[in-house]
Amino acid sequence: MHMSRTLLAAGLLSGLAGVLPVAAEDLNIYSSRHYDTDDGLYEAFTKATGIQVNRLEGEADELNARMKAEGENSPADILMTVDAGRIWRAEQEGLLQPVESDVLEERIPAHLRDPKNEWFGLSQRARLIFYAKDRVANPPQTYEDLADPQYKGMICIRSATNIYNLSLMASIIAHDGEEAAKSWAEGLLANLARQPEGGDIDQLRGLVSGACDIAVANSYYFARTLAQNVEGVTGHTDEIGIVFPDQETNGTHVNIAAAGVAVHAKNRDNAIAFLEFMTTPEAQAYFADQNNEFPVVPGVPVGKIAASLGSFRQDTLNLDVLGENQTKAQEIFNEVGFP
Ligand code: FE
Repeated sequence: MHMSRTLLAAGLLSGLAGVLPVAAEDLNIYSSRHYDTDDGLYEAFTKATGIQVNRLEGEADELNARMKAEGENSPADILMTVDAGRIWRAEQEGLLQPVESDVLEERIPAHLRDPKNEWFGLSQRARLIFYAKDRVANPPQTYEDLADPQYKGMICIRSATNIYNLSLMASIIAHDGEEAAKSWAEGLLANLARQPEGGDIDQLRGLVSGACDIAVANSYYFARTLAQNVEGVTGHTDEIGIVFPDQETNGTHVNIAAAGVAVHAKNRDNAIAFLEFMTTPEAQAYFADQNNEFPVVPGVPVGKIAASLGSFRQDTLNLDVLGENQTKAQEIFNEVGFP
């Protein structure tokens, strides 16, 4: 975790908030989503509004714990993270507050924001099925297919404790019910090519190395191997096929990078201005493209590399359900012994 000098100062001063006026031109962002190119976006916001942005970056759980510990003295105005399951946890822990904004409600599709208005999706990613073209003639077309015995010993996927898989499982519970979700987990476990290891990129590497024939990964990881040199995948992307699952049924499972206003935000108006700024077409295109994700605001053009993966119909299940079913998702994975 590292902290800008200004934010350190704000943190120190926040203890004296009752004595010293808090600078109205500031905005403090706690973020676990960081790309070097974020700077350009924050500069554009500052230019448009005159509001100075200070950032504190860290792991999602660390930031939640920090905000909790800081309590009312927390300098955080905005909390930003990836995966609806994570921002939902922050909401459950009482770290966010509701925001009434016609701009946010008009621009962000309803399924990509909290029904209680405590968090808002800012970019989206799809959880996709990848396969080795030379070894798989009939790739799975749905998440449910991943549990089909015809794929025995073929699939690589990261650990079920990871939030991406908990969120996917949460959506399966919502669509198919708990019993079917449990059978699915059993079937998927039986089809694993190896014990889950590494992150999403490592599953793609398994396709190239031959460790697996089918892999599950978020869209931006594959896009990254097209955009830059990712050892073990780049140079072999032609060998990998992509399936956008559930096109004939529920639509492909998507997730979000999301942000909300901190419960003890000192610069609440600035925080709302920031969220609204993030839904402008320019900011949307820029933010999504940094990580080869898809914008959340309809009509904003998708970046070249993300667009090259293909267009698809997405699941419109409200992402709040991913949080609500999170505990159940973990329980089911545990019950079937999914690592
Ligand atoms: Fe990721």
